[in-house]
This record gives sequence, structure tokens and C-alpha cells, in this order.
Amino acid sequence: MRSVVVHYKELALKGRNRPWFIQILVRNLRTALADLDVASVRSVMGRIEIDLGPRGSWDAVRERIRRVFGIANFSYAGRGPHDVPLLAAAILEDLGDREAASFRVSATRADKQLPFTSPQIEREVGGEIKLAKGWPVDLDRPALTIHLEMMPDHAFFFFGKEPGAGGLPTGTSGRVACLLSGGIDSPVAAYRMMRRGCSVLFIHFHSYPILSRVSQEKVREIAAILTKSQLRARLLLVPFGDLQQQVLLSVRPELRVVIYRRLMLRIAERLAREWRARALVTGEVIGQVASQTLENLTTIAEATTLQVLRPLVGMDKDEISAEAERIGTYPISIMPDQDCCQLFTPKHPATRARREEVLSAEQALPIDEMVNAALKVTTVEDFKYPVLKCPVATR
Ligand code: ATP
Ligand code: MG
Repeated sequence: MRSVVVHYKELALKGRNRPWFIQILVRNLRTALADLDVASVRSVMGRIEIDLGPRGSWDAVRERIRRVFGIANFSYAGRGPHDVPLLAAAILEDLGDREAASFRVSATRADKQLPFTSPQIEREVGGEIKLAKGWPVDLDRPALTIHLEMMPDHAFFFFGKEPGAGGLPTGTSGRVACLLSGGIDSPVAAYRMMRRGCSVLFIHFHSYPILSRVSQEKVREIAAILTKSQLRARLLLVPFGDLQQQVLLSVRPELRVVIYRRLMLRIAERLAREWRARALVTGEVIGQVASQTLENLTTIAEATTLQVLRPLVGMDKDEISAEAERIGTYPISIMPDQDCCQLFTPKHPATRARREEVLSAEQALPIDEMVNAALKVTTVEDFKYPVLKCPVATR
């Protein structure tokens, strides 16, 4: 076996955009496999064929493909000719001394012009395998399914399917900017947007040098994990401590969290526009903490004219944590650090900060100047996968 057959599903629904979606999926697969010995990645009649080179390792290739969005499932596959005895011989060779309590052959035809039907080829190839192995055929609950895909000039065969990451290929849904804290929720929010085909720009607010660099380091690690799925990523680091101190001097404690968040959104909006992102994403959840009541979420979002997308808004914490575990960000998120907002936040922030009170408290602040000052000191780091070098400052 030296090939991989990749199946997409949702893509098939995308009508006239379909060739474009597939082209991007092929490009993403090439990027994800760039440093492995892969001879070709091609789109052929409703699937993508990958041919491994002589040193190509299935385990390494599987690990990469697993994370690429837009894939329903994929299989390590062999090729054989249409000729039934020769095809059966190729399958038997790859089966080696493998045993199975029962089996079936399941065939599909990529090319409907082929001069045989799927049931016909299933019966004929199945007959040869049964003869050679002596395994009973079980059409309903076989211990082993031998899949055949009949292509115009050859057949693929494979014995199992690996689940793909699902969703849409990265880059097909435009760019968004995600406010990424070191916590559990926002990495999951970013991942969910990525899975829907968005390219996600990461924005992190930190209070260094008032606080340690830990939050930045956590966010870098989280960005590196998310980059394994997105392949390319950019992290913007915004020093926020000076702004918080200004808020501290003039704003009542209960209103501060909402005002910090509104400042973050204003800064994020400017950065999003600079980097051509069309919407802002947060990990906010209705009712999760005092600052995330419906009233506060509304007041917070009013600080920006961009759409604020909250992919986790209706989820429970344990559901989010389980997803963070699957993505791999959870162990980093739970590492202790001082979040920039905890530092200057009272134990009991207002659950319903009155909009008018927030607006009047902001009157006392030079908001535009504060936003501009933060933008001036924002730094940029780029991430790449598979070439996961130390992030390089580009500005
Ligand atoms: P998370 O686990 O994502 O930190 P949380 O439950 O701690 O969420 P909050 O701290 O109230 O919730 O933050 C709500 C959202 O605001 C976060 O999901 C994130 O999108 C954004 N946010 C909060 N702090 C920061 C930060 N320091 N930098 C960037 N975004 C932040
Ligand atoms: Mg947080």
C-alpha cells in the first residue's frame, strides 16, 4: 500500500464553488505534508489521491491528514488493476497472514461508465478472497470490510477508514480575529471558527511588565497547537497594562471588567481591519461568569461595529473543557497564570452594568488615545506548521 484516498463530504454540497473548495483542500494537504516523502496530491473524480514516496511513512502522513479541515474520512490504500484475479491477488498480498472471522467486499464506482456494476465486482472479488482465505462472507456485520473504489484505469482497495477533522477547508470562509486569552474557552472558540473554514488571526492582551510573561507564553503554546490545524497563523500581542491602570484610576470597580472588554474590542477592531479580518471572535458564554450576562455581552459588543461571533455562547463548561482536551489546548490553558483582567478586577463585578453608567464612565477616559497607544506597541509573531520554528517577530 503506497496511496491514501481522501474523501470529503460537506464539500460536495457547495455547488459551483466546489472546484475552488477542492483546490484549496488539495493546497492545504500539500502544505500539511510538505516535509514528508509524498510524491503527489491530486484531485481525481470526487476524491483526493495521495501517493507516498519510497520513504513516506503512513503513520506520519496519517497524523498530518487527521487535522486538515474539510475531510470526512481517509484511508491507506493499495492499487490494483480492474482484472479480477489480479486485483484479488494484490489484495491478498496486502492482507498477508491477516485473519478475520468474516468479511465482505464493498465497491463503489468513481466512473459510472465502467463496464461492470458494483455488486458484480463485489461478488467476483469476494469469491476469490473467500477461496484463498476460507473466511465466511457476512454482509451485515463483517469483521473486515474490503473497500474497493473503481477508478477509470485502476482500482483502489483499503481495509479501514480514519475519521477526518470534518468542517470546511481552511481559507474558504474568510478571515476572522479571535481574542485569545490563556484560558480554556477562547482556544476552543478559535478552533470552531477554523473548522468552519475561517483563517483565524489571534489577538492577545497582556499586562507585561506589570505581570509576568506567563500569559504570553501560554498563548504562544496555544497558538502553536492551533497552527497544527490551520498551518499558518499570526499572533498579535497587545500590551494592555497601562490602559488598565488608567481605567483603575477613574472607573468604579464594578464597571471595570465591561470597560476592559470594550477597550479590547475597540483595539481588536482596529487590528482586524488592518489585517483584513471581517469579524471578531470571543470565547464568551452566556452566564459563565458575572461579566458574561446577556446585558453585559450586549454592552460589550456595542463598542465595535464589527460582528462579534461567540461560537461557544450556549455551551456548558464541561463540554468546552472536553473539546479543549480533544484539541490539545486544555493542559496549557489550566496552567496557573495571572490573567490581565483578574489583576484589576473586583471580586464582584456588576452583572448588569448599566449601559449609561458604562458610557458615562468612558467619558472620563481618552479612549482614542488609549487605543492608539496600544496599537503602537503591538507586536506580531508568525507561526507555521509543519516548519514549526521559533516564532519570528515581523514587526
Ligand atoms: P477564556 O477561557 O477564553 O479566558 P473566560 O471564561 O476566562 O474565557 P473571560 O476571562 O471573561 O472568560 O473572557 C471572555 C473572553 O474575552 C475570552 O474568551 C476571550 O475571547 C476574551 N479575552 C479575555 N481576556 C483576554 C485576553 N487577555 N486577551 C485576549 N482576549 C481575552
Ligand atoms: Mg479568561
